[in-house]
Amino acid sequence: MANMFDLSGRVAIVTGGNGGIGLGIAEALAEQGCAVSIWGRNAEKNAAAETRLRAFSDKVQSIVCDVAVRDQTEQATEATLKQFGRIDGCFANAGIGGGGRTPFAERTEEDWRRMFSVNLDGVFHAFQPVVRHMVARASQGDGFGRLVATSSMASLFGTARNEHYAASKSAINSLIQALAVEHARYGVTANAILPGWINTEMTEGLQANDKFMAAAVPRIPVRRFGQPKDFGGIGVYLMSQASAYHTGDCIVIDGGYSIF
Ligand code: NAP
Repeated sequence: MANMFDLSGRVAIVTGGNGGIGLGIAEALAEQGCAVSIWGRNAEKNAAAETRLRAFSDKVQSIVCDVAVRDQTEQATEATLKQFGRIDGCFANAGIGGGGRTPFAERTEEDWRRMFSVNLDGVFHAFQPVVRHMVARASQGDGFGRLVATSSMASLFGTARNEHYAASKSAINSLIQALAVEHARYGVTANAILPGWINTEMTEGLQANDKFMAAAVPRIPVRRFGQPKDFGGIGVYLMSQASAYHTGDCIVIDGGYSIF
């Protein structure tokens, strides 16, 4: 039987692919033969991640792109198409954390807007040009597409002092369901990944907080923070033919935290 996870000939974008969860996904995709275009703001992080990805494949590209800015995602989409000729999947993974210290009563307008501009507008900006390309391709008889957004376990819980982050991620869950229904006819699936506590730059402060770790880790059945590479499997599955009938889902990857 052919390898149902072989991604040869496929092309995927991973926003926020220069580190953390995004790089974990990008590495696994590259290892399965997928061409990968990683988008991030920081050119040095992009270059370092590109070097790591080249250990798996030479079909790698990195683009400096702020997903909060519409023109930049339009240009990055064009640059990806120019390099690889097609786009089969988009992992809208770039995001910022909320800090978790400021009470809602003190949340500034600026802070609120910044959160939504990256975590929600950024998904809209990344997906829309890609969807146009996928729908156009489907009309030529080549219907295949994968839209994947990184949401959060925080969208399921009452996340005190991080309500703007949680709300931005809940909005992603609804967006994904709508996109899944609208685009199924084009062979395009849409799913959200909801990570739990993961060892990345975003959680460095928490991991250095002994009190937090002593309280949180025993509540994770797997008894550890997740690692970026724990997202490789779900990335490859969602990008592959194996997930053709799996759409509109919010897939929790949290070591069991949310059911314990
Ligand atoms: P991370 O290591 O801080 O990575 C964030 C990534 O997003 C970086 O590649 C960063 O690159 C990129 N990014 C941030 N703002 C951007 C922007 N405006 N435009 C383009 N790229 C941008 O954190 P992570 O934990 O891997 O986070 C990845 C996703 O997982 C986020 O959506 C986050 O909310 C979600 N998540 C994380 C956890 C966790 O425990 N770590 C839990 C649940 C959900 P540049 O700095 O170069 O732009």
